[in-house]
Amino acid sequence: MEISQDTAVSFHYNLKLSDGEAVDSSEGQDPMIYLHGHGNLVPGLESALLGKKAGDVFDTTISAALGYGDRNDELVEAVPMDMFEGIEDLTPGMQFQINRPEGTQVITVAEIDGENVTIDGNHPLAGETLHFHIEVAEVREATQEELDHGHIHGPGCHHD
Ligand code: ZN
Repeated sequence: MEISQDTAVSFHYNLKLSDGEAVDSSEGQDPMIYLHGHGNLVPGLESALLGKKAGDVFDTTISAALGYGDRNDELVEAVPMDMFEGIEDLTPGMQFQINRPEGTQVITVAEIDGENVTIDGNHPLAGETLHFHIEVAEVREATQEELDHGHIHGPGCHHD
């Protein structure tokens, strides 16, 4: 069957950036599995998968806007080192989940200058054009329970 709204899809992928850097892959692991049409993947990847079927292999290039979004400079700010009290060996590249009035946010430590730490709330892949190589492994109808939950049940599921 073809990938359409409310199908459960598993696929293998390789993700590279425009400079050729490989940033993510399912190679050697279980395929990624998702419920189609529920915003569980970046929008450009869901669009590219629509209509494909098991065994299809293809490459797709996704703009930042349809990937992890454009970079927003307002999400970069300087905070005092005190904010990271109790964390040893704070180094650039470390990621933390912080609580904001509007919800949790993942931030990356961008730079450390004495007592000042620059943090970046952009997704690490924001602003990047995404180059995916995709191999569709399986397509099936989602169960009613999966539809009710808005995600697929199986290995790695939060209900295990
Ligand atoms: Zn569930």
